[in-house]
Amino acid sequence: MFDGFIRLVREIYQTEQFIPLHEPRFAGNEKQYLLDVIDSTFVSSVGPYVGEFETKIAEYTGAKHAIATVNGTAALHVALLLAGVEPGEEVITQAVTFVATCNAIHYCGAEPVFVDVDAATLGLSPAALTNFLDCHGERRDGGIYNKTSGKRIAACLPMHSFGHPCDMLGLLQVCEGYGIPVVEDAAEALGSRIVGSNSFAPSAVSANELASTPATKYAKHCGALGKLGVLSFNGNKIITTGGGGMILTDDDELARHAKHLTTTAKLPHAWRFAHDQIGYNYRMPNLNAALGLAQLEQLPAFVERKRALAQRYLDWAQTNGAQIVVEPTGARSNYWLNALLLDDVRQRNAFLEYSNAQGVMTRPLWELMADLPMYKHCQRDSLTQSRRLAERLVNVPSSVVL
Ligand SMILES: *Cc1c(COP(=O)(O)O)cnc(C)c1O
Repeated sequence: MFDGFIRLVREIYQTEQFIPLHEPRFAGNEKQYLLDVIDSTFVSSVGPYVGEFETKIAEYTGAKHAIATVNGTAALHVALLLAGVEPGEEVITQAVTFVATCNAIHYCGAEPVFVDVDAATLGLSPAALTNFLDCHGERRDGGIYNKTSGKRIAACLPMHSFGHPCDMLGLLQVCEGYGIPVVEDAAEALGSRIVGSNSFAPSAVSANELASTPATKYAKHCGALGKLGVLSFNGNKIITTGGGGMILTDDDELARHAKHLTTTAKLPHAWRFAHDQIGYNYRMPNLNAALGLAQLEQLPAFVERKRALAQRYLDWAQTNGAQIVVEPTGARSNYWLNALLLDDVRQRNAFLEYSNAQGVMTRPLWELMADLPMYKHCQRDSLTQSRRLAERLVNVPSSVVL
C-alpha cells in the first residue's frame, strides 16, 4: 500500500524529485502587478491594490466587508477583540488546529477552552459544544459564564480544518441559543462553501425552483457565516500574498472598527497625527495585495484542480483499501490539504517514515493544542475524536497540479 501510494504521487506530479506538501503556483499576472507596485513607489500599506483586493475578496466570499491584514494571526487577534473578547475571559475552540488559533486568543488576554471535533468534518462538534455548555455554562448578567472557572465565555472559534467546512449551521444554532458570538477561523478554507441546506435561499424562491437550482447557488462561503471570519494568505495556503490575512464581516460598524484597529487607530485628517485608542500596525502592504489580486484571479481554477486531485486520491484509496478524508455532506471543500487516515499510530509512523524517506513529503496532524506546554492547563472535554485523529491522520502532497 505504501509503495503504491508513492507511485501514485509521482505519477500525479510527474517528477522523480522531492515532492513538497504544498507549494504556491504563480502562473498569472503576479509579476506584472508587482512591477506596477514598484514603479508606483506605493509598496507599503497605502495603495490601490489593497482596496481592490478587499473588494474582490468580499465579492468572492459574499461577505459585505473584507479588511486586509498583514497575516491571518493578526486578523484573528483583531476579530476576537471585535467580538468582545476581554482579558480574563474564555474562548471555546478546537484542539485540532494550528497554534495561531490559540495564540490569538491569548493575545486578547483570554484563554482557550478545548471542545472535541466531529470525525466527519474535523471541525468543532455541535454535539460536544452542547454537552460542554449544558454541563459548565451558566447564564448570568452579561452573558454565559463557565461555572467551573467562573470566567465569561466570550466567543466560540471553530476552524475549518484543511479546507473542509465544519458544521457551521449546527454550531451557529447552539451559539445563538447561548448568545455566544462565533468567529470563524477560515484561514485554510478560501474557496470552501456550505451548501447543505436551502436555508440560504431567499424566502421568495419556490420549492420547485429550489429543486432545479445548482447545489452551489444558495451557498455560503466559509468565514462569512459567523459574526466575523478570518482568512490567511500565507505561503502554504490555497492562494498567497507572501504573508497576509483578511477579516470578513457583514456588520458595517465592526468593519469600520476593524479597519481603524488595523491602521493604528489613526483618525482621518489631512495632516494631524491623532489616534483615539491602542491600535495595531496590521494593514496589508500594497505589494502583498498586488500578489494576492493576481492569485485571486486563478482561485476558481485552483479549487477545480484541487478537487480533481482529491478525486484521484479517493479513486486510489477505494481500490486499495485505504481511507482518505472527504468533504462533509452539505459542503463543498477547497481540498486545500488532502489527508489519509491510517489504521493506528504505529501504521501512521511507519507511513511517515517511509514516504519522507522516499522524498514525498507527508506530515502528521498538529500536536493537539491541549497538549502544548502553553495550553496544557486549559480546560477541555474528553477530546476523544481529536485524539483518534491525531493518531491516524497524515497530510499528503496537495499542491495544485499543473
Ligand atoms: C495559516 C493559519 C492561520 C493564520 O496563519 P498566518 O500564517 O498568520 O497567516 C490561522 N489558523 C489556521 C488554522 C491556519 O492554518
